Amino acid sequence: MADASLPAATECRVEHLVRAQAIRTPDALAAESGNASLTYRELLAATDRVAAALRARGVGRGTMVGIHLERSLDMLVALLAVMQAGGTYIPLDPDFPPDRLQHMVSDSSLSFVLTQSSLAADVPGGGHQVLAVEEVMRREATSNFPVDACRDAASGCDLAYVLYTSGSTGLPKGVAIEHRSVVNFLRSMQREPGMGEGDRLLAVTTLSFDIAGLELYLPLIAGGTVVIATRDQAMDGDALRALVESRGINILQATPSSWRLLLDAGWQGDPGFKALCGGEPMPLDLAHALAARCGELWNLYGPTETTIWSTLWRVPADCRQILVGKPIANTRIHVLDKSGRRVPVGIPGEICIGGDGVGRGYLHRDELTAERFVPDPFSDVPGARLYRTGDQGRLLPDGNLECRGRLDSQVKIRGYRIELGEIEQVLLSAEGVARAVVIAREDAPGDVRLVGYVVVGAGEAGPHALFEHVRGKLPGYMVPQHLVVLDAIPLLPNGKVDRKALPAPASRGTTRGIDLSAASPALRYLVATCAEVIGDAVAPDDNFFDAGGHSMLAIKLINRVQRDTGMRLNLLALASSTLSQLAEALPQDGVPETSIAGSAAATHA
Ligand code: AMP
Repeated sequence: MADASLPAATECRVEHLVRAQAIRTPDALAAESGNASLTYRELLAATDRVAAALRARGVGRGTMVGIHLERSLDMLVALLAVMQAGGTYIPLDPDFPPDRLQHMVSDSSLSFVLTQSSLAADVPGGGHQVLAVEEVMRREATSNFPVDACRDAASGCDLAYVLYTSGSTGLPKGVAIEHRSVVNFLRSMQREPGMGEGDRLLAVTTLSFDIAGLELYLPLIAGGTVVIATRDQAMDGDALRALVESRGINILQATPSSWRLLLDAGWQGDPGFKALCGGEPMPLDLAHALAARCGELWNLYGPTETTIWSTLWRVPADCRQILVGKPIANTRIHVLDKSGRRVPVGIPGEICIGGDGVGRGYLHRDELTAERFVPDPFSDVPGARLYRTGDQGRLLPDGNLECRGRLDSQVKIRGYRIELGEIEQVLLSAEGVARAVVIAREDAPGDVRLVGYVVVGAGEAGPHALFEHVRGKLPGYMVPQHLVVLDAIPLLPNGKVDRKALPAPASRGTTRGIDLSAASPALRYLVATCAEVIGDAVAPDDNFFDAGGHSMLAIKLINRVQRDTGMRLNLLALASSTLSQLAEALPQDGVPETSIAGSAAATHA
């Protein structure tokens, strides 16, 4: 299945497209964040300044530069400047544990890290230079570096970025993507779903997720405006709704989980609104809810390895089946059987993707690259490769593609791509853990949780120490909500893990016998509210995350407590304290009584 073509983009780079637009509409608003904004002219000037500083320090074609910044206009300038200087950027999420960042820094052998002064101390060590972007801007403000000096032989075939994604062997792997692939993608998206001057897109996605590339660059090549949400706003339905409504947003790209946040906050939509959804399967009820509220709803599909999105489908309001549609420009989709032959229309097989979006491969992982990026037998282009997605799909007679889930143990939770094997390896690296199996369970509809099952030696680590271990190595979204200690992992007769026999994690409350009668009103309130948010009982000496909380639930709790008490809990404190410790900071007489009576904790007491 092939698309209608656009000219190939071998010479063009992402920053060329942005510059060309800036020359067309210099005074239009390019980007906003909080109270700050930049016109295209200002964005270009800031980019040139930082690019000049980078060049002066030795960044050039192919230099790897880490981006360790909070979401802001500076982040956008930093990304464009690295590209402008000829370099390749690597997102280093400041929220990731130091061990993970350290791996990314050493694996990519990066030479520079661009950060902000407030985060500079957290940048992992190594032989690289660390630069704070606002310092660079201040220092270079007066320098008169000619723009052309930032241009050398950099080409569309150079790497635009390297993104680290979960790896089943226990460490994340870097996916390397060339400019020509991003350029092809952006041009295709500009045509369909379409974006133009006057459009305003709200960017909500973390930079470590490749789809942030659409949010940050598509508006800038089309003369629109990108409004950058902070991390907290992006995880909070009420804040998202307020931003969408108050900032005149008419395009939003989000995962199904984030769309639900917005709908749960009571967002009513708008006939002029374009909703882009992707990153995980779109549930039918969500499709109906969104299609009824928006002018256009699009389902977008594709792995990081083939550059952001590879297929798209305009979702009809009355659809009965969710499809992922047809390929974007210069992209071909094949559904193949195990021996690499095309299967007939209607028959399921592995979705394989060819064309301009196919990435260069995994950084320093030639074997894995060769396994997943295979020679494309259906292409006339010398050296063309196909990426084997590991997704099962089938082609329909009208040429649309249906995606039917994974053929392996990769899962998506709240839009995050996770190899369960990576979490298992991290559990196994803890002292005393003899076996570890991790699965994603959906014991209540829509509530997908990661559960880890471990067999530990006598007297060895209990769940609490294991949680600590895992949290020190993996980002929050990969930390299982429950850890269950078993005597043995149940096996099938063929020796494989009998996943169906793995028990649901026991409800914690029924067995705990917690008496809260002597607790302070603030503690009783906090225990009850946490129990309600998590959907399970909690105890005063529990940590919110150990008790089954995750990042989105944490934001829900923080907002709830703020609404009820006027006090805003700090996310880091929530991660590192017990509920008793947190309750000490709450006003003792300012908590609502209603939340205490009939709470989950009181019921289970
Ligand atoms: P990532 O590399 O994080 O973009 O994740 C890519 C994987 O997410 C794909 O291989 C699919 O398994 C899944 N995925 C992405 N978009 C969709 C979609 N629209 N429908 C179904 N699955 C999707």
